[in-house]
Amino acid sequence: MKPVIINFKELKTGTYHFNITLTSQELELEDIEFKLTSPISTHIRIYKNRNNYEMEIQSHFKLLLTCSRCLKEFESDFSEKDNFYLKQNVEGLENLENESTFSDEDAYTIFFQDEQLDIAPLIREQVILSLPLRPLCSDNCQIPEYKSEVENIDPRWQKLLELKNKI
Ligand SMILES: [Zn+2]
Repeated sequence: MKPVIINFKELKTGTYHFNITLTSQELELEDIEFKLTSPISTHIRIYKNRNNYEMEIQSHFKLLLTCSRCLKEFESDFSEKDNFYLKQNVEGLENLENESTFSDEDAYTIFFQDEQLDIAPLIREQVILSLPLRPLCSDNCQIPEYKSEVENIDPRWQKLLELKNKI
C-alpha cells in the first residue's frame, strides 16, 4: 500500500488542510467484493493545539454495487467523514486539557510514534466500512415479477393438457 505520511514535527499550532487522490491500486482495494469506479479523493484537516492533535478525514469516491433486490449493478456516490484524536505514544508525556473542535464526540483515538503517522490504512478502512450491507439501486426498487408458465398456456393447448392429466 502506498503510504501517506503525516509528519507532525513540521506542524505548529493551528489548522492544516491537505488534499490527496489515491487509486484503488494504491490502497490495495482491488481484490475486494466491490469495485471502485473512481479514484479516492480525500481531504484531511489537522488541528494542532500544544500536544493535542485532531484529524478529520473526508473521502469521496464511487462504487459499483449490486442491488440486493433486483440484482442490477449500479453506481453510487460516497462521502465518508471520520474524526480522530491523535496522541503521541511517548512515555511520561501527559496530555494537557482536551479542547475539542469536533461538534460531536464520535471520534476515534489513535496513537502515533516518532512524530509521524501513515494514514493510508485509515482511508482504506473508510472505503471498506462505507459498503452498505444491503445495497438498493433506488428506494422504490421492486423485485422483478416472473409470470408463472401455467398462467400463460395457449388456450389451444389447454385441452391437450386436460387430457394429459387424465391419463
Ligand atoms: Zn434494484
